Amino acid sequence: MNTVIQEALHDVLHPLEALFGTGIEIHCGDGHIRHCFPRLAAWIADHMEYVVLLGLKTTSCPRCEVPFNKLGDNILQAPTRDYAAYEEIKNDVEYGTEVEKLHVRRQLRAVGVNGDQIALCNLYGVRPEALHKPDLLHGIYKGIFESTMQWLMKFLQKYKRVESFDEVWCSLPSYPDFSPFHRSYTQITQWQGKELRNAVWIVCSTLAVALSQPTPAERAPFAQVQRCIFALVNFIFLAQYRSHDDETISLMESYWQEFHKEKNIFLEFWPSNCARNKADKYE
Ligand SMILES: [Zn+2]
Repeated sequence: MNTVIQEALHDVLHPLEALFGTGIEIHCGDGHIRHCFPRLAAWIADHMEYVVLLGLKTTSCPRCEVPFNKLGDNILQAPTRDYAAYEEIKNDVEYGTEVEKLHVRRQLRAVGVNGDQIALCNLYGVRPEALHKPDLLHGIYKGIFESTMQWLMKFLQKYKRVESFDEVWCSLPSYPDFSPFHRSYTQITQWQGKELRNAVWIVCSTLAVALSQPTPAERAPFAQVQRCIFALVNFIFLAQYRSHDDETISLMESYWQEFHKEKNIFLEFWPSNCARNKADKYE
């Protein structure tokens, strides 16, 4: 199946190669005709689509070689993927012995790569490692935010605050661009992008009310969980700026660091090491 996808991709994108050098005249929206040189520079997809597109294991990052057990650890120094090198290794062994092929497969799997040929690697001027672009819906709303909300709900269950959270959640009035939720957080099973955006808007204030009047023992965890969610929400808001300067980028980085610093409040609700190992085994 993957071979069919890769062959189809190659056939669809191959004609672009001729245009890399000669260019093409394109009628632009402003009425002018411009001589353009198309470059494949980005590919917007969700994670599972990237996995197929780039021949990766499901637990691999499309941009870097961060190991599975370090995902979520905020590691910034994992080596960038070199898809051209992976292809070279595969090509070198094409006519090799079975033992050599097995060795190469193991070597590639150790960095989260399957043995399949990848169409995008064979197209002129395309750097597959640079195609991955984090997008708000898949990477942030459906990725980080939804997972964090699942942890948060477990946290609220532990401290018996789900009811008060849901009560505030459902009682917020509508205002321009915001449609209130009629169902509690746990009753919503399928999230739309717009609903997730609304959830990001109201989560800090809803949480503040739900966690009001803590007992002395609850004070520290309640403060920490709010710092964590607050940092994440601020990061998400900043990620939506249409342009950035040094100040906004450094703010994003500091909120991101803060989120990671505080997220250990959810540690007990993360999949256990046992579950992680199991997932690795099925890879
Ligand atoms: Zn990465």
